[in-house]
Amino acid sequence: MQSQIASAFQNASDIDEAESILRSCVHCGFCTATCPTYQILGDELDGPRGRIYLIKDFLAGQETSSESLEHLDRCLLCRACETTCPSGVRYARLAEIGRREMDKKLTRPLPQHLARVVLRSIFPYPRRMQFLLRFAQAWKGVLREDWAARIPEPCESVDTLSQQGSVHPRVLLFDGCVQQVTTPNTNRALTRVLDHLGVSWALPASAGCCGALSLHLNAEEEAHDFMRRNIDVWWPWVEEGIEAILVSASGCASMLKEYGQSLQDDALYREKARRIAELVRDPADWMVSMGAGISAAKSPRSRIALHNPCSLQHAMGLHGQIEQLLQDAGYELLPVADGHLCCGSAGTYSLLQPELSGELQRRKLENLQAAHPDCIATANVGCQLYLQQKSQVPVQHWLQLLADVLPAQPALP
Ligand code: SF4
Ligand code: SF4
Repeated sequence: MQSQIASAFQNASDIDEAESILRSCVHCGFCTATCPTYQILGDELDGPRGRIYLIKDFLAGQETSSESLEHLDRCLLCRACETTCPSGVRYARLAEIGRREMDKKLTRPLPQHLARVVLRSIFPYPRRMQFLLRFAQAWKGVLREDWAARIPEPCESVDTLSQQGSVHPRVLLFDGCVQQVTTPNTNRALTRVLDHLGVSWALPASAGCCGALSLHLNAEEEAHDFMRRNIDVWWPWVEEGIEAILVSASGCASMLKEYGQSLQDDALYREKARRIAELVRDPADWMVSMGAGISAAKSPRSRIALHNPCSLQHAMGLHGQIEQLLQDAGYELLPVADGHLCCGSAGTYSLLQPELSGELQRRKLENLQAAHPDCIATANVGCQLYLQQKSQVPVQHWLQLLADVLPAQPALP
């Protein structure tokens, strides 16, 4: 694709990168077929190729409008288009740059602007979220039914797992922000699995939000601050020689894997960010690569429909590892149609684009429940909570399913 960058953008450090991504697109349109928003809306501008044209025209200096920004906002950043693209176009990176620059030029309506500020002020901060969640749970009974369904069930305190683990661990764990408040059992399950495998771990309490939420709401500097804080927390362990940072929320893992790219212009943090990105691993991918499986102590006899989050299959390109671990543990995995499509959760997308998101949730649950599973398994807190809102069967993290069939005593001393 021919592209020309207007002089107004030449100062932005990553514009060269955007231009090179634009040039790599041969506008074949293969990606359009697998784009969830195009499938629902049928408008070329709500598919990847159309959005790439919008960004190209904008960066070339053409007038833009709030309608163009809306087409970009409707993108889930699910990256199904990247998996399909035969030319290796890094769409998500281009969308991140294009959306950020367009956001600077246009003024959003006040309610939209405020909603984004409120989301950025609450979700990345576990104590604020915990407070709000307790308040919402207390008043759940008087809320509209559709709003009440969005509120997760109560769980234990934020600090339950903090600062635990070994002094000289083999691996670090990451608790993030939303997961530690809404589904703390996921990392508890991971620690049970690691204890069973004889792998020492530590969970540094002062690490926090990975930065994805801010980045996806176009607050790049704020996102970079979250990233630098996490790097500072983990660096002493990196210097001690930890083998991996295991991240059980695939949405956070895919963000952490891109720290090197995000901080490429930060001379102080660039190298550290690259090293952190190398160390970050999805727990299933890490376990399979280590040859570590779980043999069930008791046969689970459960039929599972697996929802592979976009962050796992498209952003990190991982396929088959969770399936292998669950099957080895004795679970029966059911076929699921259109497994490549997003469930509609996509970070804050379900709050900012409720209609599109709701339609994707409906389609996803129809496919997941078609073979009447006992349970739906997934690998990301956002998908888990969102699917659970309307699912007729429990939705669990796959690590919980694995921990449920462990023998009572650790296999190794
Ligand atoms: S992003 Fe890839 S698949 Fe889509 S139009 Fe461009 S080259 Fe074709
Ligand atoms: S990231 Fe997902 S929603 Fe966005 S253009 Fe690509 S396939 Fe469509």
